[in-house]
Amino acid sequence: MGLLSRIFGKDVSREQQPSAGVVKTTEVTKKEDKPVADKITAGHVHMSGCTGCLVAVADNYGGLLTLLDKYVDYVYDLTLADVRHIPKMDVALVEGSVCINDKLSVEEIKQTREKSAIVVAVGGCACYGNITRFARGGQQNQPKHEAFLPIGDLINVDVYIPGCAPTPQLIRNVCVMAYLLLKGTKEQKELAGAYLKPLMNLAKRGTTACFCDLMTDVINQGLCIGCGTCAAACPVRAITHEYGRPQGQRDLCVKCGACYTQCPRSFLNMDVIKNFESIQELIKGAL
Ligand code: SF4
Ligand code: SF4
Repeated sequence: MGLLSRIFGKDVSREQQPSAGVVKTTEVTKKEDKPVADKITAGHVHMSGCTGCLVAVADNYGGLLTLLDKYVDYVYDLTLADVRHIPKMDVALVEGSVCINDKLSVEEIKQTREKSAIVVAVGGCACYGNITRFARGGQQNQPKHEAFLPIGDLINVDVYIPGCAPTPQLIRNVCVMAYLLLKGTKEQKELAGAYLKPLMNLAKRGTTACFCDLMTDVINQGLCIGCGTCAAACPVRAITHEYGRPQGQRDLCVKCGACYTQCPRSFLNMDVIKNFESIQELIKGAL
């Protein structure tokens, strides 16, 4: 069952609750009166990553405080919540890939799937393995940890947030949209669905991404703006950037996905562009 139908079919009583009051600014009357019980629950599950994605979450500053105050109960986080075991959550934000030599990590990602309505892979490592595909052990205290997989190789993932790290705004927007998808009115759910759809499509697309995908999805579509980010992101220098156009050397590519996740155009979607103003209004109303 797809994410939308799973959510919509999951708890009808939620749809009958009063609107969250976050869609149109005109509807936002007394956000401060919003009951705590209306919040969704979310947590940050830290697998094998550099913590840069968590830093990106925190970089939302005031927006993050509003999210935590009004819309999200943060129920799990290694550093920010004093909870030892993964609880039931509406949204799990997973950072990092999974070390398959570590039974605890494998168990933790499976539990995350079992206990969460929506699993979001945050950042290139969780989505595609990214730089952790290069890991071959050798860390002083964990020499046997030598094989890492993106989380989608072990569990079903609903949404990808690409980037290394993703922008703070993108993570925040996904949290707001997840809230509206779970708690909003019909109109809010439609807009939230339009916003999340390309990120859900990325999750359906699989756990590998490489320069060939940039060629197919961005360059050949005429979407490349020649920013050079892909060339700068490639850890093995398989991409050169000349005359405003990226060139890939496919024999060098190790399919780490860094170029794809860093490209600002790789998950551009016409539904989002068409609904851009309404979506902006929705997010502004929430924050
Ligand atoms: S071209 Fe470079 S950055 Fe892109 S997937 Fe291949 S190795 Fe990774
Ligand atoms: S990162 Fe994307 S938009 Fe930028 S040069 Fe590479 S393919 Fe083009």
